[in-house]
Amino acid sequence: MFCRNCGKEVPENAEVCVNCGMKPLMGKKFCQNCGAETKENQEVCTKCGVKLKSSMGKGAKSKLVAGLLGIFLGNLGIHKFYLGYTIPGLIMLLVTVVLGTITFLFLPFIIPGIMAVIGLIEGIIYLTKSDEEFDEMYVQNMKQWF
Ligand SMILES: [Zn+2]
Ligand SMILES: [Zn+2]
Repeated sequence: MFCRNCGKEVPENAEVCVNCGMKPLMGKKFCQNCGAETKENQEVCTKCGVKLKSSMGKGAKSKLVAGLLGIFLGNLGIHKFYLGYTIPGLIMLLVTVVLGTITFLFLPFIIPGIMAVIGLIEGIIYLTKSDEEFDEMYVQNMKQWF
């Protein structure tokens, strides 16, 4: 494959480009498949037609995993812990467990239900983003709610 930052050919699965020192898929200037020049916001190589790959810093988190965690375990905030948002994750967990327990006798399942809906909506939002948008919003910029 080719380094997306400098366009030099690098071994398949190379962690770092020996020419420029960057991760080969971190750049956006060249196609990883044929080495043709690409533009910043281009998604597909206009020369060879492959989908341009890019992996951002911070060891890219999986959109699918975060989305599914939000949908199925949203009220425990697990999707937020997964994305590294410790405080919002704790808030959801505590609200569900503590407030959910306190209010259980007179408002059973309401609080955990509300938290589950928040997690569900967040999970769906994650899944509707493109990988690039997800990476930018939730991995790079740490957008903590919705
Ligand atoms: Zn390079
Ligand atoms: Zn190409």
